[in-house]
Amino acid sequence: MATARILVIDDEYGVRSGIRQILEMEGYEVDEAATGTEALTLLHGGEYDVVFLDYRLPDIDGLTILQVIKQDALQLMTCMITAYANIDTAIAATRQGVDFFLPKPFLPDDLLGVAETLVRHKQARTEAERLRKEHEAGLLALAEEKTQTHSLISSLRDAVLVVNRDGDVVLVNRAMAAILDLPEFEAVHRPAADLLGESPLAPLVEQLAAPQKDRTIGQLSLGERSYMTSIVTFRDDDGQALGRILTLSDISQVRRLAMEKERFIRTMVHELKSPLGAVRSLIEVATDKSLGDNLDGYLPMLQRAEGRIDNLVQLIGDLLSLSRSEQAESQGEPELLEIEPAVTGALRLQAEKMAAKGIAAHADLEAGLPLVLVSSDDLDLIMSNLVGNAVKYNKDGGSVEVRARHVGEWVRIDVKDTGIGIAEENLGLVLTEFFREKRPETRDVEGSGLGLSIVKRLVERAGGRLELASTQGEGSTFSVLLPA
Ligand code: ADP
Repeated sequence: MATARILVIDDEYGVRSGIRQILEMEGYEVDEAATGTEALTLLHGGEYDVVFLDYRLPDIDGLTILQVIKQDALQLMTCMITAYANIDTAIAATRQGVDFFLPKPFLPDDLLGVAETLVRHKQARTEAERLRKEHEAGLLALAEEKTQTHSLISSLRDAVLVVNRDGDVVLVNRAMAAILDLPEFEAVHRPAADLLGESPLAPLVEQLAAPQKDRTIGQLSLGERSYMTSIVTFRDDDGQALGRILTLSDISQVRRLAMEKERFIRTMVHELKSPLGAVRSLIEVATDKSLGDNLDGYLPMLQRAEGRIDNLVQLIGDLLSLSRSEQAESQGEPELLEIEPAVTGALRLQAEKMAAKGIAAHADLEAGLPLVLVSSDDLDLIMSNLVGNAVKYNKDGGSVEVRARHVGEWVRIDVKDTGIGIAEENLGLVLTEFFREKRPETRDVEGSGLGLSIVKRLVERAGGRLELASTQGEGSTFSVLLPA
């Protein structure tokens, strides 16, 4: 092998250079050492494949050099050349791990034969070592990958259970172990039918054992929670089933939202349909001329129809505001605003109605209030809804007060009225969509039941919160807290 490196250690110049020439002619790279000391320096400095060494050297003997090679685990093959080979030397050298003996004198072909064999051995050893290291590294990578996959599956929110082709459980993650009420390790290596048979997942045992399709989706309720279940068969390259994965995804939240949405739509349809039905009947009275030919007779009825249509327009406007308030971003850019213009604007909008009911209004805004970060449209809508309600649900001769204070990290705006108040059992409900208190005092008050839910969403979008205190028959205070 042309690139093999060989070190020749011999104190006799003639032997040394003779060996070198023969080896070099074959393409080996050869270094020479005349003494043991020189040899050790070279051995520690360069990477040799083969060392030929004389047993007798002037300073350090060949055995000691073999010992150093062994001790320092130098990866090379050794051949001892000696004219004095006897049994004792051979045994001592073999103990030190020598690979070959070449008795002097020898023929060039003998030398080349030995060199070739040793170089081949060295190559085989190096290759074996490389493969061993590669294998070790591979195993390590595999182990690492396995650990990673395991912790990944373990931390999934979905519950996962894997069975092999014999139906034995091979993997259960944390979420699944929690559903089965078992430690993860106790679940594995057991037949899935045994494990699940006694558990809340019993309805899935049959499907897991023999699913109709490679992927089966279903639903399962466990207590208050709803899950989407999926059973997937995984196969090898030849299409042979290797096992199955069962996953349970918690869809309780999604289902709850879907149900809420459905209820909202049903209520909305009802709220839109009933006034339209009423308007239609009123128009029919006119088209049928049920009240005779005199047009004036129909006026009160047409005015009622007009009122219902106004309410419908108001409802549609509220629905639009509600839908906008649900978006994360407000339409108008949030800006640093003073509270005062929105408060004055809201009171001004209600001035006529307040005058009609003899209601006194009062604004008490602390001087030097911090600005609040909110879109101007949102702040106007918040204030006009709350002041509007304070007037709508007030008594004749009552009062409305808007008070703003800087409290800790908030600007707190209280809208206080001396109106009909809210029944205690409804305090939690008035902020939900379409909820309206049904009491004799509210019978003639028009509204969509959406105003407060819009206010709540707008306040929350600005990073604040809405609070409410009310006593039936005495009045209510709605408090908006916005970050200062
Ligand atoms: P709307 O006023 O259109 O009915 P809201 O969402 O603004 O809808 O209010 C929901 C319900 O809460 C009202 O129907 C009413 O019963 C009650 N409410 C709201 N504000 C007040 C208030 N200031 N005083 C008494 N009741 C109120």
